[in-house]
Amino acid sequence: MSFKNLKNIASEALSKAKDVAASIQKSDEPVGGVPVAVTRKVSVIVFNPIVKSEGGRKLSEVLNWSKPDELTQGYIADVREVSHGYANYSVVERIESDSFPVKKDGFAYTVDEFLKYLRSNTGFHKPDEVDYHRIVEQFDIIAKINRGAIDEVWLFAFPYAGFYESIMAGPGAFWCNAPPLENTDSANRRFVIMGYNYERQVGQMLENLGHRAESIMDHVYRHRGEADNLWKRFARYDQTHPGQAEVGVMHFAPNSTKDYEWGNKTKVKSRYRTWENFPNLDGEAIEVDHTYWGGGEIRAHHKWWFSLLPHITGSAGGLSYNWWKYIVDPNEVN
Ligand SMILES: [Zn+2]
Repeated sequence: MSFKNLKNIASEALSKAKDVAASIQKSDEPVGGVPVAVTRKVSVIVFNPIVKSEGGRKLSEVLNWSKPDELTQGYIADVREVSHGYANYSVVERIESDSFPVKKDGFAYTVDEFLKYLRSNTGFHKPDEVDYHRIVEQFDIIAKINRGAIDEVWLFAFPYAGFYESIMAGPGAFWCNAPPLENTDSANRRFVIMGYNYERQVGQMLENLGHRAESIMDHVYRHRGEADNLWKRFARYDQTHPGQAEVGVMHFAPNSTKDYEWGNKTKVKSRYRTWENFPNLDGEAIEVDHTYWGGGEIRAHHKWWFSLLPHITGSAGGLSYNWWKYIVDPNEVN
């Protein structure tokens, strides 16, 4: 073989290798990899009125409730952990308001009357629902979304603040454990406003996110029949599918017989373990009880549930194998 032939063979091999490399780049991402982590920018707005009659302390302090910033940090750490490092929330703005959020009919509590109602557990204003448009305007939320300064909003307040646990706004917003917020099409993308209660703990914050996840996954899989609806399969529990439980939903662990019953000691069969090998869902059911998801503790159950959501690269039928992608960014949902 001449030197010239050898050189031709070498250059042909090189160009073939380049073609192969290019075609790999063009094709779908390989299945089973670790998705590239995302950071989501959050505006935190804390409604925490000053109580003059109680030495000028803040409402959350007077009532000895959770500290909003500790809740935020605990929640962010949990979400990062249970999304296997994918979902990273970053608080880029923190606003504290001394006011009471104004309700849809224009009503707002004074701090003294609110404390009186709270201590007697009576007299709360109806309708309870907050005026979201007033909040959106007051804090200039749509402009911040449009210039990319923030991706979502976390409201913190007390019970009876009138917030939904989550609500979606922007063009094409859909049900997110609440009806979509109308008249927000001047936003250039969808965004979620979370409503947290600092009377409660991180476990309840995770539950708000869990209901958001349930709503969004229902929407992602809305065109799939029962047989090829992976989300519906993930959500099975014994009461709805006797003997065929998988992971369940927020309110129902595999063996729950009523809402919030994460501490049920009855053993049922569940195939939850197969979700650790997603997309291969072969495998036998095992007998499980409350000890598998923390013994009944809310935060432990919810972390267990989230950690089993599909979280790998790849897709089937146009739907990602990384469900977190949809949960943290509803603009990824078609
Ligand atoms: Zn709930």
